[in-house]
Amino acid sequence: LKPERLDLAETLADLTHLLNRLLGEKVGLDLLHARAPVAIRADRRQLEQVMVNLVVNARDAMPEGGVVQIETRLERLEREVIRDRAILPRGEHVVIAVRDTGCGIGPEHMGKIFEPFYTTKRIGEGTGLGLSTAYGIVKQSGGFIFVSSTPGEGTEFELWFPQCSDLPAEPVAAPAA
Ligand code: C2E
Repeated sequence: LKPERLDLAETLADLTHLLNRLLGEKVGLDLLHARAPVAIRADRRQLEQVMVNLVVNARDAMPEGGVVQIETRLERLEREVIRDRAILPRGEHVVIAVRDTGCGIGPEHMGKIFEPFYTTKRIGEGTGLGLSTAYGIVKQSGGFIFVSSTPGEGTEFELWFPQCSDLPAEPVAAPAA
């Protein structure tokens, strides 16, 4: 595990090729970046795994095709906020939202989707580990994950991370020849 400063525009740009391939021909990918550069402190491979898991679920929710939207934004909380019993501390957060226009998640599943081995997919199609893995990874980075969904309209996952305000690493000077 190697937490590092990840500029999200850059990290997500590096991932678009893989994500587009996973989405296939019927599902488009729409990236909406925060106006100012945003960065988080996390392990690159782990963040990639979370994005892959969320995007694959979004794809599977849209068998007829559609668009997956990934939006990044900065959120400043003036005071702590309670959401789904989680306490979001005041301060600057970086949010990654992943939205689809798919079948949605029924209210009967909502409380359980982050539990290990819980799946609504058919036998052999889902392990039920994607979202619990995503949850664990987000927790390891000091973040939060939330879901909101309307059956028949779509689903949105929001990842909240503490903003990383470190300066970008200096490029390493090439050794003199
Ligand atoms: P809970 O899921 O019953 O978790 C109770 C406490 O167990 C948590 O208190 C935390 O101290 C610990 N815990 C549970 N799961 C994990 C985990 O994966 N990693 C780590 N490091 N600790 C874990 P906490 O953090 O104050 O959360 C209180 C309640 O707020 C949680 O109850 C849960 O209902 C909700 N919550 C917390 N974080 C999130 C989140 O990222 N997303 C959502 N949707 N709910 C959250």
